[in-house]
Amino acid sequence: MASRKQCFDEAVRAASEEFLTESFTRTYSSIFDAQDEMRTALKGSGYAPTFSESGDPIYSLPDLRAHDALALCVIDSLKRIAEIIRAQHPGIDFTPVIESTAFDREALSELVGSFASQSMNQIESLAARYRVGAEELVFLLTYAISPCYAFARQQYRGTIETQTLERYRCPFCGSLADMALIHQDAGTRYLHCSRCDLIWQVKRVACAVCGNENIDDLGYFELDGRESDYRISYCDHCHGYIKTVLIAKFDDPLMRDVVIDNLMTANLDHAAIHRGYSRP
Ligand SMILES: [Zn+2]
Ligand SMILES: [Zn+2]
Repeated sequence: MASRKQCFDEAVRAASEEFLTESFTRTYSSIFDAQDEMRTALKGSGYAPTFSESGDPIYSLPDLRAHDALALCVIDSLKRIAEIIRAQHPGIDFTPVIESTAFDREALSELVGSFASQSMNQIESLAARYRVGAEELVFLLTYAISPCYAFARQQYRGTIETQTLERYRCPFCGSLADMALIHQDAGTRYLHCSRCDLIWQVKRVACAVCGNENIDDLGYFELDGRESDYRISYCDHCHGYIKTVLIAKFDDPLMRDVVIDNLMTANLDHAAIHRGYSRP
């Protein structure tokens, strides 16, 4: 199977979007390389993920104060991703984050814990402490730490219930979804986990953010009313939105790498935000 970086390079070649600058392409190519290397480092680190019997969620990131092998991989990954971002955006300087967490397990555990709990309040207060933007910090943590979740899922030998229908958080790691998929043949809808990459099935008509099923509040639009493979599904109850990829009849939604679809459709995010919707 092609790596994410190969799929990304392919998508960039096929696209004609004007936001695909050389800096954009180089940043994500380097990030996907770094993530591959982190997964290899995790394999060799001796870190063995543990899983919950009751399964809600099945995997949680452990406290890094008690897991030195994992902590060292995370420190390396934070440093590497921070360097990639800074090489393309010299104004974004994560030095205070890297220096504070490299030798201080307490600070590292707090930083990683804010990502694990997806607590925006906690992330905002850490961003203020380290004098970086909150969204920039989320970006760093997402790309640096997500490989831990993907690695844990590869190591898991149990069965994950993916026909959950009313579950809007990942059945494996408890994260919110970043993208939705609709299989045009079967009419079935799926969500993609922003951390461990799991794709699971949910109800076709319900808000992927708050679970609201009142059809008066739910809708979707395509960009400029154009027919395309992408749409924005929104909810007027929580004012959340999620981008949806339409999967063609003979394609398998479970094989689609929607991380790349997500990157290539930044214009849809702008359109949704412009209309007053937001991501949780
Ligand atoms: Zn997950
Ligand atoms: Zn909603």
